[in-house]
Amino acid sequence: MSNQENGKGKVNEFQVYLSEDYRLNAEGQMVQNTAPRPCTPAIDRFKAKIHVSNQNGLRNAPCWNWIGSTTSSGYGEFKADGRRGAKKTNPHRFAYQHYIGSIPEGYEVDHLCKNRLCCNPAHLEAITLQENRRRRNADQTHCKQGHEFNDENTLRSGNRRRCRICSAERSRKFMERHPGYNAQKCQEYQARIKAT
Ligand SMILES: [Zn+2]
Ligand SMILES: [Zn+2]
Repeated sequence: MSNQENGKGKVNEFQVYLSEDYRLNAEGQMVQNTAPRPCTPAIDRFKAKIHVSNQNGLRNAPCWNWIGSTTSSGYGEFKADGRRGAKKTNPHRFAYQHYIGSIPEGYEVDHLCKNRLCCNPAHLEAITLQENRRRRNADQTHCKQGHEFNDENTLRSGNRRRCRICSAERSRKFMERHPGYNAQKCQEYQARIKAT
C-alpha cells in the first residue's frame, strides 16, 4: 500500500521503501519483514523449563520450580509470545493464565508457597495489589536490621509499622549531624509559615 492509498497525501519515499522490507511487530516497533519462524508452542517451551520438586509442599502438591532465566528480583522470565520483539512475562503469570484463567486488570499473581520461582497453579492466587502488599507486610516479622516487630518495638501509623529501635537510632544520628537542632523552634517556625 502506498502512502497515497492510505490517504496521507504526500508520498514519503523513505517510508515507502521501509514498508516493503519492514513491518510493525506486536509492540508497534519496526522490525525486518522476514517470514515468520515456526516456533514451539508456548506451553511446551514452558514445560521444558519446569523442574517439579520431589517434595510435596502446599496443598500436598510439589512446587514447580522455574529453571529458565530470572530477573534481578528473583522472579522467572518467560517469553510466552514467541514473536520477535514481543514482551516477556513471568512464567508463574503464564501458568496462571494457562491453567486457571485470565488475570483481572490490576491484579497480581501471588505465590502462596512463598517460592518466587514456583509455577504450580495450585500454589498461585490472583489478588489485588493492596492485598499483595498487606500479605507481604504480614509476612515481615522483623525490620531490615533484624529487630522483631513485637508490641513493644512497633510504631504504628495507619497500616504501616516502623521499628522503634531503628527510629530512635535515626533520631540520634540526626541530632549528631545537627547539634543545634531545636525541634520545638522548628515546629513553631513551620506553624508560622503555614499561618501566613
Ligand atoms: Zn510452590
Ligand atoms: Zn529495627
